Amino acid sequence: MRTDLLPQYLDKAKADGLHVFCVIGCAGSTATGSYDDLDVLAEFCEAHNLWLHVDGAHGGAVVFSGKYKDLTKGVEKADSVAIDFHKMLMTPVLSTALMFKEGNKIYRTFAQRAQYLWDSPETEEWYNSAKRTFECSKPFLSAQVYLILKTHGMDIFEKNVNQLYDSAKLLSNLITAKPEFDLVHQPESNIVNFRFVPNKKMNINELNTLNTDIRKRLVASGNFYIVQTTIANKRTLRCTVMNPLTSEVDFVELLNEIEKEATSILSAELAHV
Ligand SMILES: *Cc1c(COP(=O)(O)O)cnc(C)c1O
Repeated sequence: MRTDLLPQYLDKAKADGLHVFCVIGCAGSTATGSYDDLDVLAEFCEAHNLWLHVDGAHGGAVVFSGKYKDLTKGVEKADSVAIDFHKMLMTPVLSTALMFKEGNKIYRTFAQRAQYLWDSPETEEWYNSAKRTFECSKPFLSAQVYLILKTHGMDIFEKNVNQLYDSAKLLSNLITAKPEFDLVHQPESNIVNFRFVPNKKMNINELNTLNTDIRKRLVASGNFYIVQTTIANKRTLRCTVMNPLTSEVDFVELLNEIEKEATSILSAELAHV
């Protein structure tokens, strides 16, 4: 987020007659895994009496890592934070923590009138999450988190996050070392976006088509599964390293296979011309 533009956007929203009540910071954005400057956001929200929510669905997991937790510096000042344990913290879907700086504020949004359920409707019982969540019936989600920690020890989350983030750095270094590959951003997390750019003369449409075709063939071949996204009009190949067993050999093979698909697409085009 361009935090330097916040004052001007707040003024514009107010001038447009909007009632602004909340700013949402990303601790790991979806497309690039980039982190917003949460310290600056917290200061801004404090000064303007706005609620600060941090979407840490993906990247909030770094709070468990001594090595990477500075990416979320300032998160402790947020009014609410969401972290998905089913992203980098190893649980099956679904297991989300929604945390509030002041725990009782959760009732202001989610408290339900369900007099037939409660013995004492007016009391806030910490153990009774149905009183302060959107759903009524739900599975015992925190059991998944507890069992992982109990089975593997308290440092398992840190190990997993460090492994995944270190892996993404390794992949980005391998990409940078190859002249026909273009790393679209330095990864801040386990998400890496890059393109195959065989020569500088190809225009953006040609490159977008080429990279789309490369991905289609790669996925159809069955050896690798990666996704794509579009950043500033550039179609990118996007990897999210989620398996701690993914190794340098896998990355080297992935990049080789991309080169192979690209060469075959480009030579078929030449034959056509
Ligand atoms: C995955 C993700 C979501 C959605 O989370 P689910 O709980 O899996 O639906 C929201 N925000 C970000 C940044 C994400 O990475």
